Amino acid sequence: MRFSQIRSYDNYIKANLQLNLLVDSGINCHLKDEHTVTIDPFLSPALGGIKLMVLDTDLSRAQQILESAEDAYIKTLACPGCGSKSLERQALVKLPGWGKRLVDRLRGINESVFSSEIICRSCGRRADDLGQFS
Ligand SMILES: [Zn+2]
Repeated sequence: MRFSQIRSYDNYIKANLQLNLLVDSGINCHLKDEHTVTIDPFLSPALGGIKLMVLDTDLSRAQQILESAEDAYIKTLACPGCGSKSLERQALVKLPGWGKRLVDRLRGINESVFSSEIICRSCGRRADDLGQFS
């Protein structure tokens, strides 16, 4: 059985919420590096955060479940700057440095950091994926 990373988190609460959402939908998945990152958050950037790993055959269904849950959540938010409800989610993929990418390739894994940010289409304000606007 081969698992691939579908999301990464530096927050164990969101990691577990999304894990449980997938488990409840019958997706074969688990969290990787949860305990290490929770005990020592300073290691999170080096490890690429807490990783949500999904069985390859469940990947596209898991992606759909997470995206529809994230879109439903964003619809409940209003921009703190202009009050607009026209918020949009954008996926971000951060590739690790070339050294780590090489080691990952030799180990047969891909540990890019997957996250998203929310952008207000009215005023352009940005927020991280927990809806905390800067
Ligand atoms: Zn706005």
